[in-house]
This record gives sequence, structure tokens and C-alpha cells, in this order.
Amino acid sequence: MPIRTYPDPVLAQPTIEIDNIDGKIAQLAQVMLETMYQAPGVGLAANQVGIQKKIFVYDKGDGPNVVINPVIVETSGTWTYEEGCLSVPDLHWNIVRPNKVHLQGLDLDGNTLDVEVDEYHGRIFQHETDHLNGILLIERLSEEQKQSTKKELQRMRLSPPANSHDGLHLLFGDE
Ligand SMILES: [Zn+2]
Repeated sequence: MPIRTYPDPVLAQPTIEIDNIDGKIAQLAQVMLETMYQAPGVGLAANQVGIQKKIFVYDKGDGPNVVINPVIVETSGTWTYEEGCLSVPDLHWNIVRPNKVHLQGLDLDGNTLDVEVDEYHGRIFQHETDHLNGILLIERLSEEQKQSTKKELQRMRLSPPANSHDGLHLLFGDE
């Protein structure tokens, strides 16, 4: 499936809870995993492929996982990590977020997930849960990062690279 990129409005819309984990959801998870591996990426939320349902997939290097109806119930600490997003191609930022994350949700078999993770795993959970709530990582940038990114994008506009993505220059609006 094609991956939606900023400023596609589906990325800014909160998704809807899944109340019946049926064969269609299993199929969706499969297609999302294929799309994620093809990209390649470590995580993918359903609205990134235009489906407004609360489900994300990820693989932090030890195999595929599916999380349905995730809710982050508690966080603690802080951790800085360089983050990018398949929906905001080619850009990366050191982003500060909580380190430890307590997530509740369901797996593809409908079993309860109730897990506490940290660092890289915690970062994936926060990034993907944000997506499902309609929040892109650019909303997590510091003011300083927003300013320097604006400058960077303005420079790119003066001499746009051949492979520049449409709409990228709109990231923070025109001045
Ligand atoms: Zn993302």
C-alpha cells in the first residue's frame, strides 16, 4: 500500500478503536507489515496507509509485532533519540521523549497486552501511538528544531534536490 506523507490530512486525524478483531484485521496487519518491510521502516500505523483504525505494526529487529487499540497509561524519565518517520521522508531529529512507557492494548489474537518497555522499544510505542492519535513527530520538535528545520527547508527550496518530495516544503507553512 502507498504510504501517506505529510501534509496528507489522514495523518492528522485520530483513528477509531477496533472492536472486532476478525480476518479483515489480520489481513490488514499482514499488508501493513509487508508495506513496512518494503519501505523499509521499523514501525507503521494504519493511518499511514489511509486506514483510520487503531492498529500499528513494528519490528525492532526481533520479528514482527502487531498492537491493537494501544493506550499509553504511564511514562517516566526522559531519553533522547534520533527519530525519523516514513510519512516525513528524509528528515531526522534528536527528539526528547519519556524513556519508560507503560502500554496497554491487544494483540492480533485479542489477548491483553500490558507491558512496560523503555528506550528504543518505548520510543516505537510512543511514535506509533502518536500516529494513531493524529500526531506527527514534527509536533514533538523543540522550538529551536522547528526554526532550524524551517531554514533548512528554505534552503532546499532555493535549490531543490532532484528527488525532493512534494509537499515537504509545506512542513511548517510558508512565511
Ligand atoms: Zn512515523
